[in-house]
Amino acid sequence: MDREQLLYEGKAKKIFRTDDPEVVRVKYKDDATAFNGEKKGSISGKGELNNRISAFIFEYLGKQGIPHHFVRFLSPKEQLVKHVTILPVEVVVRNRAAGSIVKRLGLQEGQSFPRPVVEFYYKNDDLGDPLINEDHVAFLDLASQEQIRGMRQMALKVNRLLTALMIEKGVDLIDFKLEFGVDQEGKLLLADEISPDTCRFWDHQTGQKLDKDRFRRDLGEVEHAYQEIWNRLGGEKHV
Ligand code: 5GP
Repeated sequence: MDREQLLYEGKAKKIFRTDDPEVVRVKYKDDATAFNGEKKGSISGKGELNNRISAFIFEYLGKQGIPHHFVRFLSPKEQLVKHVTILPVEVVVRNRAAGSIVKRLGLQEGQSFPRPVVEFYYKNDDLGDPLINEDHVAFLDLASQEQIRGMRQMALKVNRLLTALMIEKGVDLIDFKLEFGVDQEGKLLLADEISPDTCRFWDHQTGQKLDKDRFRRDLGEVEHAYQEIWNRLGGEKHV
């Protein structure tokens, strides 16, 4: 039955049709990939933890006025979301230097930026998701001027809200990636997921990495890091 309803399978999630054409079912997988699919593995419990963490964060952002695709939690690994057309642009916000910007600009990992750095990437596996600017987004016709403005504004608001949420839990938000979709009415909505797969979270006291970098860089205790983020958010709220 699942096979007939499958709309799309990504690296970390499967998307299924539902009886309602405006709603799809997302099933989170334990599969993990990094470096554009070159490194593959599985993180036991990741699907469930990311489903719970992402549901929690989308509900929080929604209450703070961010328009989003999340509808409701369905089961440990599944949630319902609005059927949207995902814009092929990844929006990254950085508060401190880590990951690709360290290599690209020769920075020191952990150094703070005086104000958040917003970046756009072309969501294209064949090209390895290259960094692009707003002019590239426009000429490649990936999003309208209004959508570009909306994505930047919403990304910065998400950064403020998520930074505040996480610091209360003793976690620094280093950077994160967002994706946006457009619904049937043409409205721009925050979409995809927000989880330790898509954010860098460092423990405020110790600087310990509590995110997918533990998998990317073979640091061990990967499951523990995802579980720790869920525990800090209050755990078990959706059970
Ligand atoms: P970087 O450009 O340093 O690799 O990533 C910046 C931030 O965006 C990190 O929090 C990283 O997890 C997230 N990010 C960037 N691209 C992707 C992607 O293709 N998939 C996922 N899951 N996260 C990404």
